[in-house]
Amino acid sequence: MKYNQRIKTICTHVGEIEDKRFKGAVSPIYMSTSYQFEGVDIKRYPRYFNTPNQEYLSEKIAALEHGEAGLIFGSGMAAISTTFLAFLKKGDHIVLQNTLYGGTSNFIREEFPKLGIDFSFTNGLSIQDFEAAIQPNTKLIHIETPSNPLMTITDMEGVAKLARSKGLVTTIDNTFASPVNQNPIDFGIDIVIHSATKYLGGHSDILAGAVVSSQDHMDRIWKVAKNYGGSLSDFMVWMLERSIKTLVVRVKEQNRNARKLARYLKKHADVKQVFYPGLKSHPDHKLAKKQMLGFGGMMSFELNEGLDASLFLRSLKLIKPTMSLAGVESTMLLPALTSHALLSQEERDSVGISDNLIRFSVGIESPKDLKDDIEAAILFVKKEQLDIRI
Ligand SMILES: *Cc1c(COP(=O)(O)O)cnc(C)c1O
Repeated sequence: MKYNQRIKTICTHVGEIEDKRFKGAVSPIYMSTSYQFEGVDIKRYPRYFNTPNQEYLSEKIAALEHGEAGLIFGSGMAAISTTFLAFLKKGDHIVLQNTLYGGTSNFIREEFPKLGIDFSFTNGLSIQDFEAAIQPNTKLIHIETPSNPLMTITDMEGVAKLARSKGLVTTIDNTFASPVNQNPIDFGIDIVIHSATKYLGGHSDILAGAVVSSQDHMDRIWKVAKNYGGSLSDFMVWMLERSIKTLVVRVKEQNRNARKLARYLKKHADVKQVFYPGLKSHPDHKLAKKQMLGFGGMMSFELNEGLDASLFLRSLKLIKPTMSLAGVESTMLLPALTSHALLSQEERDSVGISDNLIRFSVGIESPKDLKDDIEAAILFVKKEQLDIRI
């Protein structure tokens, strides 16, 4: 590891740009798109990902994920697509975990056939499932853990070992865990990708992505990245630096709140089941415990059959029904009507996504207020449905 500091210090200080002129407390923003040459080697330009703000924030994110180098992108999907295309060419093959962020599966299914890149989704998450999907032309294995929306856990060390034995590169979408709860490079994964729109940003006001890896892998990604042009504006880079200063305090509070809410929901008579890796009842709890430092702020739960989940969502006062996640504010959505709406009923049933499944992104509010909000909404739904029946 390049940095000796611990994570809270990395968040607050690594990658700061010293304000030599005015001694300001925070990094200055350099918005220039044009820089005088410094010798022949350094040509700074925003699309080369090397303006002062981009360069210094990349250091911070690399330090957070225990990697040698980082790169900041204009969105999570820019980070994912650029990384894949840096390692795959026509005729190559990629193995993908079967439960992936919808945008990633769409990108693969819609774009790869046009590019002549082959792909296979695994049948499950065991190492045997990954091994069975490998072909002679496989170059990359991509995983996501915990995954959306059932919080399934993939064995990072197992996948990394399998990939190494076959000479393959591994990539992980580490968005749901954040670097506070999981550092995949420590388990042998080669490349860590984040939608920084989520926990790294954390306030629902930044669209960004990030990649961390060895310097060798990063050199390869950077060459492709400057051709595709998915860089982030320096103002947003600066916003992201500011946000990451509080990453640890936010995520730890979200971990604590989620644990409390998961236990509360698990005991609730109107809740059928809860999917949270921190609960002993979660099928992958042991694996989660082995590879995660905290269990995160994301969970899902199923209301009992007969309760209208959509009406429940509309009856909440504090918790907002929204698409995105990981902000300081708590949000919920129905995967059957949003992220997984394009699947058929049978497909949804086969992956365990019922119409009553609710994804819950837990914020930093007082947990008691969140419980009260849920309680009142469930009561309201029961009363409404009873009234209709009468
Ligand atoms: C949101 C998200 C993405 C995509 O990120 P954008 O910043 O929206 O492009 C990728 N993976 C996961 C797990 C996400 O939640």
